[in-house]
Amino acid sequence: MSRAALEKFPKVNLLFGKSPIHRLDRLTEYLGGDVEIWAKREDVNSGLAYGGNKTRKLEYLAADALAKGCDTLVSIGGVQSNHTRQVAAVAAHLGLKAVLVQEHWVEWDEVNYEKTGNILLSRVMGAEVRLDPAGFDIGFRASWEKAIQDVIDRGGKPYAIPAGASDHELGGHGFAGWAFEVEDQEKELGFKFDKTIVCSVTGSSQGGMIAGFAHSNRAQDVIGIDASATVQQTWDQIKRIASRTAKLIELGRELEDSEIVLLDRWHDGIYGVASDHTIEAIRLTASLEGMITDPVYEGKSIAALIDLVKEGYFPKGSRVLYCHLGGQPAINGYTTAFAN
Ligand SMILES: *Cc1c(COP(=O)(O)O)cnc(C)c1O
Repeated sequence: MSRAALEKFPKVNLLFGKSPIHRLDRLTEYLGGDVEIWAKREDVNSGLAYGGNKTRKLEYLAADALAKGCDTLVSIGGVQSNHTRQVAAVAAHLGLKAVLVQEHWVEWDEVNYEKTGNILLSRVMGAEVRLDPAGFDIGFRASWEKAIQDVIDRGGKPYAIPAGASDHELGGHGFAGWAFEVEDQEKELGFKFDKTIVCSVTGSSQGGMIAGFAHSNRAQDVIGIDASATVQQTWDQIKRIASRTAKLIELGRELEDSEIVLLDRWHDGIYGVASDHTIEAIRLTASLEGMITDPVYEGKSIAALIDLVKEGYFPKGSRVLYCHLGGQPAINGYTTAFAN
């Protein structure tokens, strides 16, 4: 029932189509060849300012914003937020305005951190960028409320998009659809993936996948890798989003706690800063595959995947799908991490 129920929700097409799936041959071989590593590439899912996982989520929120006659998308993230850059791109594409609150989520001292990468792209696309000194929190914020009020005071009609487009009624829909898309691609490939690896912070990528895969009892095969370092808060948010999405797409049963799998060994103790171990995994993947991952999110989940294969977590012959959620522009703010 889930899939037909999801298709009843309007969406704006922002992606090229299905995101590509391919085998990471050299990484597979490097790690001994007993476990096949594949990637599904949300980092190349769209032509809108490099795309990424938020673009997939925003297909549903943007449709809602247009249906409600809103003229300004208002959202929030860290200074190097991929999410706000994707909001800016979607706004530009649809002829809307964007107001972005960029908070001080990351202790990273690099001269161009507030000028390059994602924030540069948002400025280029004409978004109103507001720097705010508040620290990391995936919840609701006063600066964001103020940005919404300012749009109203100017006579505009805001559409509020929470951090990561997650804690929103439609936040999980994009990645519920991702799960169904994987099942279509599995039919074409002629096999099923045993596990999916995905980075989690605001929770609706994994939460949506759980809601989508739950209809075929595969939710527990989605292995979330926490990169928030506020693990309990992220787990709770994944559960809340997965449950809400499952209900909206008519799963017809409650989700069990055991269907939410979030591993906490790879967040490096802090959001937005990578350990040497993570940097090494980024370099390894880049040098073997030409696939770029970032120090905030994907570097941590690729480090987890590499370690889990080495530790024998996956039985011999397994096929593991690494979900690459995007985020490469942020690497421009982390030049010192790769200086030697
Ligand atoms: C936002 C983001 C994540 C985390 O996804 P959530 O849905 O917020 O859990 C992971 N990787 C990248 C590149 C992101 O931009």
